[in-house]
Amino acid sequence: MDITIIGGGASGMAAAIAAAREGANVTIFEKEARVGRKLLATGNGKCNYSNTNYEGRIYNEGSEDFVDKVLKAVSPEETLAFFKDLGIYPRFESEGRVYPASEQAASVVDALRFELDRLPNIEVINSHWIKGIVRREATGGFFTVSHQNMRKHADRVIIACGGRAGSQYGCEGDGFVLAEAQGHSLVEPKPALVQLTCSEKYFTGLKGVRAKGEVTLLVKGKDGEIVPVGSEKGEIQFTETGISGICVFDLSGRANRAMEEGSCAVVIDLFPELSVHDFVVMMKDRLEKSKHKSCENFLNGLINKKLIPVILKESGIKKIEARASEITQEQLKSICRMLKQWRVGITGSKSWNDAQTTSGGIKLEEVNPETMESKLQKGLFFAGEVLDVDGRCGGYNLQWAWSSGILAGQKAATMEKE
Ligand SMILES: Cc1cc2nc3c(=O)[nH]c(=O)nc-3n(C[C@H](O)[C@H](O)[C@H](O)COP(=O)(O)OP(=O)(O)OC[C@H]3O[C@@H](n4cnc5c(N)ncnc54)[C@H](O)[C@@H]3O)c2cc1C
Repeated sequence: MDITIIGGGASGMAAAIAAAREGANVTIFEKEARVGRKLLATGNGKCNYSNTNYEGRIYNEGSEDFVDKVLKAVSPEETLAFFKDLGIYPRFESEGRVYPASEQAASVVDALRFELDRLPNIEVINSHWIKGIVRREATGGFFTVSHQNMRKHADRVIIACGGRAGSQYGCEGDGFVLAEAQGHSLVEPKPALVQLTCSEKYFTGLKGVRAKGEVTLLVKGKDGEIVPVGSEKGEIQFTETGISGICVFDLSGRANRAMEEGSCAVVIDLFPELSVHDFVVMMKDRLEKSKHKSCENFLNGLINKKLIPVILKESGIKKIEARASEITQEQLKSICRMLKQWRVGITGSKSWNDAQTTSGGIKLEEVNPETMESKLQKGLFFAGEVLDVDGRCGGYNLQWAWSSGILAGQKAATMEKE
C-alpha cells in the first residue's frame, strides 16, 4: 500500500509512523524546510502534548461523539505509551496537563523525526507544497501534485495540513482548499485560543494587568436576546487592545463564531467567590471604614492599582484623590457593578498568527470516525486540525492530532480496498 501524507506536522508524523508500522510505504510532503516546525512553539516551547483529565466540555459543541470514537480507538493512555516507546517520558502537571520530562518541545519533534528516519518505508520530502490531489479513475488511487511540479502516485492520501492557526508555521488553510476540491464542505474557519479585542478605549492603559476572575461570554440568541453561553474562571490578562489568558482563550472560538451573527460581549467578575449580595455588603462596609481615605485608597488592596482609575472614572468619579466620603450611593453601585459584572464589548480577536487553533474546518458528518476516511472519496483520509474539531487549552489539541493521526495511518494502511 502506497500512502501519501500531506503535512509533516503533529498528526501527519503520527499517521506516517502508524501506517509504516503496519507495513505501508509512506511519503510525507511537508511545505516547510523541516517537519514539526509548529510543534517547537507549543506549550511555550515545552509542548503540552496530552491531558489526562476529560471532565466537562473539552472539544467544540457538536464534535463530542466523533471525538469520543476517535479517542476510544486511540486513547490518551495509548498515546503516552506511543511516545514512551519513542523515549518521551511523561511529566504530569496540574489539571491533567502532560509535558515531556525534558520540558523541551524540541525533544518531542526529535523523537518523531528519529522514528521517521528509522523506519525504512517512510520518505520525508520537505519544502514541497502540495497544490492538488487528482483521482486516477483507472486504479482507484490518486496522485498528488506539488508547486514544485512533483507528481506522486498513492493508493491512499491523508490530508494532515492543519488549519489556519499559527499561519507563520506553514498552516494557511491548504487542507481546506484540497478537501473542498474533493467535494468536501467546511464549517467556516475562525481563529480560536486567541486574545479577544474589546471596544472600550480604556484598555490602552491596562496593558500588563493580571487579575483572577470569571469571564462569561454573552451572544445574541435566536430571538435576538443576549444570552450567556459559557463561563471560564482563571487569570484574566489585560492587554492594550483587550483581554487574554487561558480562560479568555477557551471562550475565543465561540466568540469569533458568535460574531458572525452580530455583536457579542463578555462580563468579567473579579470576585466570583462572592455573591452579588455579599459583595455589595462588603463594599458598603469597606466604604464606611474608608471615609477618611481618598477614592483611590478606598480600592487599594482590592484590585490591581492600574485598574483603580479606570473603575473610578467609569463609575463617574473624576478625581481619584477626592475623599471616599464623597462617593454617592449611585457611584458605589456602579463600582460594585464593574467589579462583579463588568461588561465589555468584543470587536473580534487577534489574527491567525496569534491563534493556537482553528474553530471550524471540514464537516465531521462527511468523515467516518471509525476510520478517518472521507465518506465522499474512497481512499482519502483526514487527521488533525483540518477537521472541525477544536479543544480547550491544556494539551487537548495535540491529543486530537495524535489520536486522529494514528487512527488515520493505521486504517489507511490496513483497510481492504473495495
Ligand atoms: C503557538 C502555539 C502553541 C500551541 N501549544 C499547544 C500545546 O501546548 N498543546 C496543544 O495541545 N496544542 C497546542 N497548540 C495547537 C497544536 O499545535 C495544533 O493543534 C496541532 O499542531 C495540529 O496538528 P496538525 O497535524 O493538524 O497540524 P500542524 O501541526 O499545524 O501541521 C500541519 C503541517 O502541514 C504542513 N502543510 C500545510 N499545507 C501544506 C501543503 N499544501 N503541502 C505540504 N505541507 C503542508 C504545514 O507546514 C505543517 O507542518 C499550539 C499551537 C500554537 C500555534
